[in-house]
Amino acid sequence: MRHKRWRWLVALLALTALVGAACGDDEGDGGGGGTVEEFPADTTMGRIQEAGEIVIGVKFDVPPFGFKNPQTDEVEGFDVEMGGFIADALGVEPTYVEAISDNRIPFLQDGTVDLILSTMTITTDRDAEIDFSEPYFIAHGRILVPEDSDIAGVEDLAGRTVCTALGSTYEENLGESAPEAELQLVDSYSECLELVQTGAVDAVSTDDVILTGMIIQDPTLMLVGDELTVEPYGIGIKDGETEFKEFVDGVLADVKEDGRWQELFDKWIGQYTGQEATPPDLTLDEALELRPCVETC
Ligand code: GLU
Repeated sequence: MRHKRWRWLVALLALTALVGAACGDDEGDGGGGGTVEEFPADTTMGRIQEAGEIVIGVKFDVPPFGFKNPQTDEVEGFDVEMGGFIADALGVEPTYVEAISDNRIPFLQDGTVDLILSTMTITTDRDAEIDFSEPYFIAHGRILVPEDSDIAGVEDLAGRTVCTALGSTYEENLGESAPEAELQLVDSYSECLELVQTGAVDAVSTDDVILTGMIIQDPTLMLVGDELTVEPYGIGIKDGETEFKEFVDGVLADVKEDGRWQELFDKWIGQYTGQEATPPDLTLDEALELRPCVETC
């Protein structure tokens, strides 16, 4: 039953992508309204305001969270628009750079980006290296296979090859849930898509919303098995930027409360799946408790 629902999603998303391209999209228009507070030059917010732009690392190949629309050359998606709300609150323009799973933390540490909104799960190990906002989305781990596959769930992965991204939570997740699977670690999820399409791997495992994006591109793929993990997404902030984190959390709280979160969910997910959702009320501390440290303790 689940699979039929996703097939329907595929058709609708393809159609909407075409209509969206034809009509032009209101990407980046946060619509938050209100006046923009001016911050002192010695704060991160002030520095960004002086530069007139905020640099945000997003995925470029993960619809519906962050993807470069080949028809418009614009980067679009839930993460992209969420970043746009933060830019709006600072009164600056967002500049999006591609952040794959493995370079999200280095990009924050070396100043390539001001923020990461790249389908990034809050984990205790990551929290030791960077700061996180309060959770803004909750995804779940799943498995994707070709429709003629005999894999029906995680229990069938022993001795099979499974693709996921280097630096993603699935390096560890799969080691626990499918210890006898052979992992193929790649830089970006579009490579996993190619590998499963050509039969070079038997399955892909990552967040349900990312796998859905693959089904949009290739409806002969399908999700199997139960939800494997809970993946609360947080906005990545450079370690120790406490004031900036408070500012980002303030914007997030407004977005969750004033209907913009709901609009984003409906626009990028709900209208296709028929799912309804409310903004996550999980706190950062609760998200961290879901994933005790592995490497940093
Ligand atoms: N949410 C998971 C993570 O942060 C998987 C998705 C990704 O690699 O971006 O590792």
